[in-house]
Amino acid sequence: MRNVQITIQAVPYSSVSSVKVVQDGHTRFEKSDCYGHTVVSLNDTTPSLNFLRDEAMRIAKEKGFTEKRSFGEEIALIHSELSEALEDYRNGHAPTDENVRAEDPGKPTGIPSELADVIIRTLHVCGIYGIDIERVVSEKMKYNETRSFRNGGKKL
Ligand SMILES: [Mg+2]
Repeated sequence: MRNVQITIQAVPYSSVSSVKVVQDGHTRFEKSDCYGHTVVSLNDTTPSLNFLRDEAMRIAKEKGFTEKRSFGEEIALIHSELSEALEDYRNGHAPTDENVRAEDPGKPTGIPSELADVIIRTLHVCGIYGIDIERVVSEKMKYNETRSFRNGGKKL
């Protein structure tokens, strides 16, 4: 018999109330996403991708980014974040340099922050289209593991 303890608690990285589940000594948070599916955090400190997807959706909505954009525009915005990372690199910053722009105190800057923007925008697009990104990432990584060495001799 499994030891399961369930309590209601606010999640530290979410303003959405979730159910805290302690099972066999492991803690996770569960809530329903906007599609009625159960979204689970990996543990009490690491949110899952679908959890972050829903948070990206919530924050974008709260900040007024509610206009309907085309899929092409959404992809272009993801590209723009990669371009910002490249621009930081072109300006001499190392990939691990953080807080590189003093004119924006308190705002995370640098390549790590721009890569985070890529992920956040990607998660937002997944939320818009109802993509279960955890399942897809897991499936794709499992497939990648089956591919041949350098995917059949790719140079890069
Ligand atoms: Mg950015």
